[in-house]
Amino acid sequence: MSIQAHPDDQEFTVGGTLAKWARAGSHIVTVCITSGGAGSNDHSPLDMTREALVPIREEEQRQACRVLGISEVVFLGYEDGMLEPSLALRRELTRIIRRYRPDAVVCGDPTMRFYGSIYMNHPDHRAASDVALDAVFPSAETRLIFPELLAEGLEPHKVQSVFIHGSAQPDTFIDISEVLSVKVAALKEHRTQMGSWDPTEMITAWAREQGAKRRLKAAESFRLMRLHEPGSATG
Ligand SMILES: [Zn+2]
Repeated sequence: MSIQAHPDDQEFTVGGTLAKWARAGSHIVTVCITSGGAGSNDHSPLDMTREALVPIREEEQRQACRVLGISEVVFLGYEDGMLEPSLALRRELTRIIRRYRPDAVVCGDPTMRFYGSIYMNHPDHRAASDVALDAVFPSAETRLIFPELLAEGLEPHKVQSVFIHGSAQPDTFIDISEVLSVKVAALKEHRTQMGSWDPTEMITAWAREQGAKRRLKAAESFRLMRLHEPGSATG
């Protein structure tokens, strides 16, 4: 299960890994907490409204998922640019985790505030990843947290591992050489965000940088939390 704040977050960050897993037979569900209604100043016409943009971006996300081999996308409909690490959102993500019962969750790193000196992490990204981690542990696996979910028939679920992208301490490197072109193709489906810009060069450079530590030509790197893997003490 890939949990992200906006349409296109997944394609920028973890599209290669998900494409690889999908090709290996994994069933993947993408959870998009907002539908990206705020868009981008660069590529949104001045007369664009949130209401008009939402269905377009949802369709772009579905199309990007199809390219990656993901058939299921869930939109939670939160407002783009306004995400808070709220209990309501934690309950919602807990509900979804208990419903789909994923082995692994993929999300961002809520501790990341600054990337180098040119990008301050978007508050929606921080909120989304903070809540995703809190939903995985302790909420999804603890019976008496959100007992109202039990009444919906949603039993506790232990997520085995969490793949955290964009971390300052990556320890796991997924070789995406064979699916790099798929990652780029999926990202290009977000036409309202890309405009005429071709992301190939930047995505290729990022993949090269992330792979360098392991001498991989192209990789996506993660901080991996092994919470309940089979054979582990608590599994
Ligand atoms: Zn984003």
